[in-house]
Amino acid sequence: MNTQEIIALYDRFVMNTYTRVPIVVVKGKGLKVWDLSGKLYLDFFPGWAVSGLGHCHPKVVSSVRECLKKIIHVPNNYYNIMQAKLAKKIIENSFDGKVFFCNSGAEANEAAIKLTRAYGNQRGRNEIITFENAFHGRTLATITATGQEKYQRGFEPLVEGFRKVQFNDIDAFKNAITPKTAGVMLEPIQGEGGINVATKDFILSVRKACDENDLVLIFDEVQTGMGRTGKMFCFEHYGIKPDVMTLAKTLGGGLPIGAMVASKKFADVLRPGMHASTFGGSPVACSAALAVFEAIKREGLLLNAERMGSYLFARLEELKKKYPIIKEIRGKGLMIGVELTIEGKDIVRDAVKEGLLINCTHDRVLRLMPGLIVTKKEIDRAIYILDKVMKKIIGE
Ligand SMILES: *Cc1c(COP(=O)(O)O)cnc(C)c1O
Repeated sequence: MNTQEIIALYDRFVMNTYTRVPIVVVKGKGLKVWDLSGKLYLDFFPGWAVSGLGHCHPKVVSSVRECLKKIIHVPNNYYNIMQAKLAKKIIENSFDGKVFFCNSGAEANEAAIKLTRAYGNQRGRNEIITFENAFHGRTLATITATGQEKYQRGFEPLVEGFRKVQFNDIDAFKNAITPKTAGVMLEPIQGEGGINVATKDFILSVRKACDENDLVLIFDEVQTGMGRTGKMFCFEHYGIKPDVMTLAKTLGGGLPIGAMVASKKFADVLRPGMHASTFGGSPVACSAALAVFEAIKREGLLLNAERMGSYLFARLEELKKKYPIIKEIRGKGLMIGVELTIEGKDIVRDAVKEGLLINCTHDRVLRLMPGLIVTKKEIDRAIYILDKVMKKIIGE
C-alpha cells in the first residue's frame, strides 16, 4: 500500500478528530523517522514528547522484549514486579509518597482531581483552581480544568467545581481562593498554551497559599516531566515540591502509561474501591518506564537536555536577529517555544517538506521538543532547515 491508499483508509474508517500531516510514519531510530516512501525526517517534536528519548531507544526495546517473553498483562488485583519497581523508582526521583498507575495524561489528571475532591470533601471543599491557557487532557473533567474554550465548546455541560484564573497572576490567584477551594492544578510550563513558563514568585506564592489553606497542589508534569526541562521534574527548578504530580508522555518511552504521584500526606486518601484502571501499570509499560529512568541516568540525559537546550536556545536567538517574524523565544531545557508575529502553520508545513518535524501550538508558537539524546549536529541541521523555511516564508 502507498501513502495515498493509507490516507484513503483513514478517510473511510478512522474518525476524523485530528489535523494530520500527510505522511505515513513507518520507522524510527533516535531522532530519525522514515515515512512509507523512504523519506527521512529529523524529529524535533516526537509525539508531544512521548518518544522523549528518541524513537525505539535500545534500552526501552530490550526491557520490553524481556518482559514480553514472560507476561503481558497482570491485573491489578494481583501484584506485578515491574509496577513495584517503577513506583519505587518514581518516588526515589521525586518526593516521598505513593503512585497510582494509569495509561495517559488525562487519566492521571482525573485521578488527581478525584484525590483532591476526596480529600477536600471531608472538609466541605470541592473546588479546584486552574489557569487560563492550561491544558490537562480531553476527558470531561480535564477539558473543564483546561483553561481554553476551544477544547470545551460543544461538550457542555462541563463538570462543576473548577475556577479559572490568569496564569502567573499572584493577586488574581489569591483572590480566587474561597472556603470552597480544595486544590490547585497547574503546569509549571504550559505546553499546549504556548510554552508559558511559571515565574518563581508565582509558584512560591501558590505553594505558600496551599500550605496555609490546606489545599492540594497538583503539578501536571505530563509534558514537562522526565528530564524535558533539564531536571527530572520541572518542580525542581522552583525549589518546592507539589503535593501531587501527574506524569505520562515520556514516562513510557513510547508506550502508553500514566502515573499520579501523591506525597505522604495524601498518599492514602484513595482507598480500595475508590479508583481503578484496568490496564494501569501493566508490566510491559512499567518495564519500558524503568528503562527510561535507567537511560536518563546512565546516559547523562539531564545534563544533555540542559546543555543542548541552551545551545538550541542560542541558535534560535540568532534566527530571531535575522527574522523579525520571531517575537520571543521561551522555555527551559529542551522544551522551547518560538513565538511568531504570524501564524506558524506554513512554517511547520514547509519544514516537514524539508525533512524537519516540528509543531505549532496556540496558532503562533512553534514548539521544539527533540528527544533528550539530541546532538549539536542535529540541532544545527534543524536550525539550517528553519532558516531556509523562514527565508522563503518572508519572501527574501
Ligand atoms: C498531553 C497532556 C495531557 C494529556 O495527556 P493524554 O495522554 O493525551 O491524555 C495532560 N496534560 C498535559 C500538560 C499534557 O501535555
